[in-house]
Amino acid sequence: MANKLVERSVLNLLVAVICIGFIISTASAIRRSSRDVPEWPSSDAIGFANPDNELTNDKRVVKVRDGVHVAIGYALANMILLEGTDGIIIVDTTENSAAALEIYDQFRNITTKPLKGIIMTHSHADHIYGATALLNKTGNSAQVNVYMHSSSETLLKKSKRMQKRSFAGSSRQLGYYLATAVDDVESGIDLGTDHGPDVVATIAEPTHTFDKEATYELAGIKFTLIHTPGETDDQITVWIPEWKVVLPADNIYQSFPNLYAIRGTAPRSLDQWYGSLDKVRRLHAEHMVPCHTRPVSGAENIYDIITTYRDAIQFIDDQTLRQLNKGVTFDEVAEIVKLPPILASHPYMKEIYGVVSWSVRAAYNAQVGWFDGNPVNLNPLSNKKRAEKQVEFARLNLCNPISMIVNLVTKARNILEMVSKDSEEKGQIFMDELQWALELSSTALDAASLSSPFRKLAKQVKIAALRALGNASKNANARNYYLTSALELEGLELKKSSKAQAAFLRTIRVDYIMYTFPSRLIAEICNDTMVMTVIFEFPDVDQTHSYTLRHCVLDYVTDREFIPETSDAKLTMTSSVWKDILTQQRSVENAFATGDLILEGGLQPYQIFMDLTKEE
Ligand SMILES: [Zn+2]
Repeated sequence: MANKLVERSVLNLLVAVICIGFIISTASAIRRSSRDVPEWPSSDAIGFANPDNELTNDKRVVKVRDGVHVAIGYALANMILLEGTDGIIIVDTTENSAAALEIYDQFRNITTKPLKGIIMTHSHADHIYGATALLNKTGNSAQVNVYMHSSSETLLKKSKRMQKRSFAGSSRQLGYYLATAVDDVESGIDLGTDHGPDVVATIAEPTHTFDKEATYELAGIKFTLIHTPGETDDQITVWIPEWKVVLPADNIYQSFPNLYAIRGTAPRSLDQWYGSLDKVRRLHAEHMVPCHTRPVSGAENIYDIITTYRDAIQFIDDQTLRQLNKGVTFDEVAEIVKLPPILASHPYMKEIYGVVSWSVRAAYNAQVGWFDGNPVNLNPLSNKKRAEKQVEFARLNLCNPISMIVNLVTKARNILEMVSKDSEEKGQIFMDELQWALELSSTALDAASLSSPFRKLAKQVKIAALRALGNASKNANARNYYLTSALELEGLELKKSSKAQAAFLRTIRVDYIMYTFPSRLIAEICNDTMVMTVIFEFPDVDQTHSYTLRHCVLDYVTDREFIPETSDAKLTMTSSVWKDILTQQRSVENAFATGDLILEGGLQPYQIFMDLTKEE
């Protein structure tokens, strides 16, 4: 009873503070509206200029090396000219005819050799829609080879089903209607031409498609097209071995990668993306010409840039997965997963096109879908319904010195009673009321500090709301979810026993176990400048697993062709001995002493590896 009085008096004080705050902010808003309202639009509301911005949108044709030029700043994407002995090949064609033809005219100042081929690196609009105009320009388009990946046609077809939504989303993301802002916005992609509502899109049919990899010779240029899914599933990389030139399409550019496009796309597969960059990295190109932003030269420089880029993508993938396993919710995960300083400070990691937090949410979503596991979000109210309830709740409670939490308990109880009486006729209305009680009690619990006298009560109300929802749910999965979530709030821990875990570990293949280590890396205790390699060799199953720690990412390789030749520690043992060690039936030292483990290099790198990946 005494506790209740304390709770109530503290809550009354809280409500009084809210009310006073509300009155003050309302008063100041009124004062502002009468005197100091800024004019709209203010000058800094339109775009922004960054003095450090080197990614200007000036139109220019850059010579990369003999035979390779790139046009930057004419369109969303670059257009690349490859000049051979008796003809030219164009790689990507921008998003509209006008830009493609303008660039083509510029290229004509470099060479007048005939157009022999067009390579379209993927099916995104900014790479393909100018192709038809180029083909028409030749007067004999049948003589021009057009290359695309074999999956592009299907993707194009599917994209047509989303046409309206895609255009609306792209208009917002790319600012089609913001003509005055385009030049001022620092962007990882070059903006400059018309790509808005009046542009007529045309699609050129490919004459050559391939699946994994294909080598062609055209205009005296020998080139290999490599399927490198990443930014899209049909992405291809163009490799010209004789010139040591690689065109990685949109899998890399001078900005943090757009791992999730807010214009509305399906989640992009991150492990596929950094896996593709590994393929590009291993080409050891001397020139790299991406389809957005500027080209780069110097083999070492290019290798380092691609390594950093792929590590950043793997970091997002692994750390998001790790937090998901730890039970971190969707709304919290983007606040927790941050790039380590060594990655965040890299010039290619500026968040001027892609954004880390969006990417983390997308990575989370890609693993578990739209439902983040939080029962509050299982059947959320629509924004409109919530707004109506918020207004009503505020009207009844905001400045009423009665405990809001007590109101909630009473309300939840009343609704539960009503549902049991009349659920058939008014089912959805009551479910909405229960959901509303759950949302409010959950908000109260989130807001209450650990020492708050209201925390316990908020928790009890939330449990009551979950139980009410669970008991009222006709769907078996929803019922189980709500009721189990209530038990968890009461202290239930959802975890397999260590005995069952150990037994399972013994039965599964060792490569299943080894595959989990990168996403177990505890980034918070990792030194982001540390580089080391630890290799595990299991002769009984003929497997080698290599982990290179770099940028707080474990670069995991099992293909013996790419396993590093040297390591800081190499452990050779049977998979059975390794499982004994993992299940703590014996120690590494014991296995070493009995000759069951051969250790090359030091034990310390192994210990660092194990500390960084220990089960959380
Ligand atoms: Zn693009």
